[in-house]
Order: sequence, then structure tokens, then C-alpha cells
Amino acid sequence: MARIYIKTYGCQMNERDSEQVAQMLLQRGHTITVKEEEADVVLLNTCSVRDLAEQKALGKMGMLRALSQDRPVVYGFLGCMAQIRGTTLLDEVPHLDLVVGTQKFHRVAEYVEKAIEQKWAARQDDVRFSIVDVEEESASQSTIRDHVLGKRQVTAFVSIMQGCNMHCTFCIVPYTRGHERSRPQHEIVSEVKTLVGQGVKEVTLLGQIVNLYGRHEFATLDGKSPFVQLLEALQQVAGLERLRFTSPHPIGFRHDLIESFGRLPKLVEHVHLPLQSGSNRILKAMHRTYTAEKFISLVDRIRSVTPNIAITTDIIVGFPGESDDDYAQTRQLADRIGFDNAFVFKYSKRKDTPAAKLDQQVPDSVREARNHDLLDVINTWTKRRSEPFVGREVEILCEGPSKTNPARLVGRTRGNKIVVFEGAPQHVGALLNVRIARSTGYTLYGEALSS
Ligand code: SAM
Repeated sequence: MARIYIKTYGCQMNERDSEQVAQMLLQRGHTITVKEEEADVVLLNTCSVRDLAEQKALGKMGMLRALSQDRPVVYGFLGCMAQIRGTTLLDEVPHLDLVVGTQKFHRVAEYVEKAIEQKWAARQDDVRFSIVDVEEESASQSTIRDHVLGKRQVTAFVSIMQGCNMHCTFCIVPYTRGHERSRPQHEIVSEVKTLVGQGVKEVTLLGQIVNLYGRHEFATLDGKSPFVQLLEALQQVAGLERLRFTSPHPIGFRHDLIESFGRLPKLVEHVHLPLQSGSNRILKAMHRTYTAEKFISLVDRIRSVTPNIAITTDIIVGFPGESDDDYAQTRQLADRIGFDNAFVFKYSKRKDTPAAKLDQQVPDSVREARNHDLLDVINTWTKRRSEPFVGREVEILCEGPSKTNPARLVGRTRGNKIVVFEGAPQHVGALLNVRIARSTGYTLYGEALSS
């Protein structure tokens, strides 16, 4: 039996895929270690959305080669970069044994065992022993369904679909994750019921374009999309307290979904709504299929149903051809909406995407300056949106000890604000009220009110 070190890069979907891999390895009797120095098997689950993420994973794999100096170690790349680069990774990283793509996570345990067997028997690094599987597999969306829950874990991610058909011109996801494929509703409901039976109180539904769930497979009923039908079914799960989802696309945010926030009490008051740019010219070049005006009207409609909803976003600065004026429009729009928080990304050129072929790539110094400038706007609003909580009582779901100070506990509000508080052991895993004493913008600090 082997000790397996798994490191994950990128989004929550990647985290969720790694959890499935870990579950299957544990089930077969292996152990998962967080100490790379004691690993018999190193698996890096990669991200390709930006070049930096790929470089980090390649650098880490290079560094970890030293582990195999005095014993056989199996090395594998999983996920998005494995999918997009395939066998070429074997040339780039000579000590690599496994390359497993995004539709084959459920085969990893089997491949790991095969690689261990070959390596321990042969005691040599020979590419003839390498396993590469980046094929498509129908129904692979239903293979991400098992969990490894920690002690008193109350939150969990649930993957409801794979792939993306939107073809934003900057984005590599359609190439790494394939076309949209959704799981049947009954499978998802049953997975959530199992989680709740194990103590989970909050689930986050995951999909690249989560609100377009099921649009190719299932019918709209009574004006309700398959995604809204799923939310309604999950609302009925006894014991589930909170329901989140990420990431939606603005175009899939129709009336039926907006009004769900007003009538499904488990659906929390937070939406992550990727804007990408505030310039209509750039949105068009990105193939985002909405305008700045439509985005504003969508935010207004969401806020009219749920006035205190937290809205977070993703914005890319320095997309090819983005002028000072285009950027100024993004800045202005971000300031007008006043997001609770945002991920601001410098545009990263991704091979074979339409935007990579565009002229007028923006120099890094300009992307850097816009990134800093926009973060100032975002940070100002993050603070402004958090200040009103000071002095108030909020309901939080306590996730456990704070990572930075284990003497304190940490939880989240329904609006996804992080709250660090003085509590007691019985608060771990509980929904409770906390009085907020101060805010740093990103984190609220307070004291538990219920015993
Ligand atoms: N659901 C999201 C949407 O509506 O587009 C997609 C999630 S994507 C994996 C996460 C974020 O990464 C995107 O929203 C985008 O802001 C950013 N991103 C994607 N490709 C990028 C690129 N080439 N350069 C910089 N940021 C990028």
C-alpha cells in the first residue's frame, strides 16, 4: 500500500476532482499524506486557466524529482494541464509516469497501482512504463460523486456538470473540460442526502457554467430551467441548511433563477457573477454575449428581489486591444456596482484560444498597473460592504478552528463573509449567532452569542 501526496491547483472543481481521486485511493487501502517527503506517489492536479498555474505545477514536479533519489516514486499530472498537453508532458518532464485527463479521474487509482507495480518491479524510469489517458468518456460527469469528509465537516462541494460550451475567446476551459454534460437530478439529490446524513449542512453546487445545468439533457418545466428545478429539489432535502452555487454565467440568469432567491430559503444571499469587462467592445471581443448595460440591469433585478445579497465577480484586465478608455469603463462599472469582492486577473494568453491570435496584446506593465488600480477599487468596496456588519448579530455556520489562529473559530455568513470569533468547542459544525465587533474588510471578528 502506498502513501500518496496530492496537490491541487486552481478552482473548486479541481479540489472536488482531487477529493474523488483521494476517496478511491483510500478505499483501495492507500493512505493520503500531506508530507511530500514521505510520498511514494506524487499527484499534481493541475489548472490551465492561466499560464502561471501551469508554470507552478511544472516547477513543483521538477522540484519533487529529488524524492526519487533513494527510492522509487511514481509521479503523475492530472486534470486540465494533463488534458491539454497530453503525451508532450512526458518529453518535458522525463520522470513523469502518469498523465490523466479531466474525464478520467475515476481511473487514477487503477493507473497509480499499475505504475507502482511496474516501478517497484523494474526500479527504473522508462517512458515505456508511462500511462497517458486523456480520452473522452461518456457519462464521466457522473463519476465525481464520492467524498472524503473530515471530522465534523459541515460544508461540501457537489459537482453537477462538466464542460463548457460558451467559448469565451480568452478561455481554455472548453478545450480542457470538453462540452457541457450534466448529471441527472436524482443522482445529485441522492448525493446531497448522503452528505447531509453524514453531518453536512451546506453544499456548493459546482459547474463551469453552473446555471446552465441540464440545458441539453432536461426540459424546462412551468418556465423553470433544469437548474431551478434542481434548486427546488434540494430545498426539500431535510437537514440541509444552506445552498450555494458557483460559477454562473450572466446570460443564464433569467427570471426563474432571480426569483428563486426570494422564495427558496436555503438558497443563500450570495452570487458570484463573472463580469470580465465593463467595455462593450471588449465584452464582444471576449464573446461574452451581454453588454455592460445588461449586466447592470441584471444586478439591479437581483438586488430588487434580494436587497442585501452579496455579489462577487471575476474581472480580466489587459485583454488584447483593451485601451485606456475600455479599462476606464471597467473601473467605472466596478465602482458603480460595488462588488463585495472580486478576483481580478491579468489576461493570460492561452495557446489555441481565439484571443491568443488577436493583435494588440497588452504589455505586461500595463496589465500590472490596471490590476493594481482595479484591486484598489475592489478593496475599497469590500471594506465598505463589510462595515455595516460591525455591531450587528449575524448567523454563521462554523467550519472549525481558524487556520491563522486555532484558538479561535471560523465560519461564514450566508453572504459568504468570513467571520473569526471567540467560541466554544460545541460551536464547531453549528449554525449560531455571532456579534460582530470589528472588520478588516475581508474578515469580520466577533463573539458567539449562543452557548
Ligand atoms: N463561470 C466562469 C465564467 O462565467 O466565465 C468561468 C470560470 S473560469 C475557470 C474562472 C475565471 O478565470 C474566469 O471567470 C476568468 O475571469 C478567469 N480567466 C479565464 N481565462 C483567463 C485568461 N486567459 N486570462 C486571465 N484570466 C482568465
